[in-house]
Amino acid sequence: QRVLAVLKSNLLVLLLIIALILGIVIGICLRLRDEPYSARELMYLKFPGELLMNMLKLLILPLIVSSLVSGMTSLDSRASGKMGLRAVVYYLTTTLLAVILGIILVVSIQPGKRGDKPVTEGKNFREVDPADTFLDLIRQMFPDNIVEATFQKTLTTLEEVEGTPTGNDTTNATLAAATAAAFLSMNTTLAPMNTTLAPPPKKVLEPVLEDVKGINMLGLVVFSIAMGIAINHLGERGQPLKALFESLADVTLVLVNVVIWYSPIGVLFLVTEEVVSMQDPQQTFEQLSFYFITVMAGLAVHGFVTLPLIYFVICRKNPFKFMYGVLQALVTALGTSSSSATLPVTMRNLEENNGVDPRVTGFVAPVGATINMDGTALYEAVAVIFIGQIENFDLDIGTIIVICLTATAAAIGAAGVPQAGLVTMVIVLTAVGFPADRVGLILAIDWLLDRFRTSVNVLGDAYGAGIVHHLSRADIERMDEEDREAALAE
Ligand code: ASP
Repeated sequence: QRVLAVLKSNLLVLLLIIALILGIVIGICLRLRDEPYSARELMYLKFPGELLMNMLKLLILPLIVSSLVSGMTSLDSRASGKMGLRAVVYYLTTTLLAVILGIILVVSIQPGKRGDKPVTEGKNFREVDPADTFLDLIRQMFPDNIVEATFQKTLTTLEEVEGTPTGNDTTNATLAAATAAAFLSMNTTLAPMNTTLAPPPKKVLEPVLEDVKGINMLGLVVFSIAMGIAINHLGERGQPLKALFESLADVTLVLVNVVIWYSPIGVLFLVTEEVVSMQDPQQTFEQLSFYFITVMAGLAVHGFVTLPLIYFVICRKNPFKFMYGVLQALVTALGTSSSSATLPVTMRNLEENNGVDPRVTGFVAPVGATINMDGTALYEAVAVIFIGQIENFDLDIGTIIVICLTATAAAIGAAGVPQAGLVTMVIVLTAVGFPADRVGLILAIDWLLDRFRTSVNVLGDAYGAGIVHHLSRADIERMDEEDREAALAE
């Protein structure tokens, strides 16, 4: 009976893990067919997974806005200021630690000096001006239209940077422009690309272009925080809106619950399709094996040692129990390659399994999913130095410091969507003077690394929420006390 009870309470995690494994096994079996699968067949195969992605993305808007606004309105300004500061310090410290770990590993393992040189694909990534990308990041924080920010963002800088495609070199120009757009858009969307430019002719860019679309998270986060502050400021007159957003937050959680029960099915099909459509895995893995191992080792050390250690030192609680509490979110991240899409699951896990106060998750988790990406930062540093090693570029200490700083910035700028890190890596390459088109060297296995780094990103956000909760417990108690007094006075 006890076994049954344990099984029941962990049913979802179990189902998700089964889905993941089954997806790989079915995918491998399906690959046995000699004839390659057509795009239509792959589309059918992915369909249930596509629905999961859509439902998760659909929930992001109501979830972010309602939880951030009600998070802000339920915190007094003293508490929210302190929590914000703690969260930012945690994000920056852990991201930098991840980058440094990545650099140490890649410099000692030297993956770029071993094995065959991988074949370059997608040669047309073009350098972009870091100043433009910086401005674009700021621009995103101030969307001109909040409804539009929910769906897509027009890229105002694209033409100035890239000019128009010239002559018969349209293929290159299209790819370069698409890449620049992908890069410039960072936290925003690529949807406009589909309408303004012909679809990219090469397979290599497709995943990036297809999936990096959706929401300007950064814009929504800034807007929601501002709105929360304004509601607090208004006092009595802001109350109806406060109640509205609180109710919206509750209703959204009910919907999240439904989607979560569907997630094992979605994950199963997402993974199966990915395994089936994977191209010539053997050759790429041979060429890139040391690079792959380096990134994976870094992610493992960061996820299983660094982050748990920080959590343990600060909170004095079992970090692995905490990790187990968010396992469902970690597997969802593996399945979706998107920390934004995983956000609903992360928040639910934190509150229900790990007892993190909803006022903390509502505030810290959405911001974390947008800007805190330890896995991405680590991977970007490793990838750029790997490219430098292969191409025999200069890797002196100055270059390494620049990589360290820009990889952190590029991870902050990357959206929580599939393969966004690959795209923002151009900023790091450009900053150290490496040709941006060398991104092609690591493209072949990026989809796989993406899944693992997304999991580490989500884990970092989760520990962040746990730590901020722990550090803010005095404030939380004080606010609870004040609420009780207010209730009594009434
Ligand atoms: N896919 C990652 C995420 O959603 C971002 C990345 O490409 O590194 O967190």
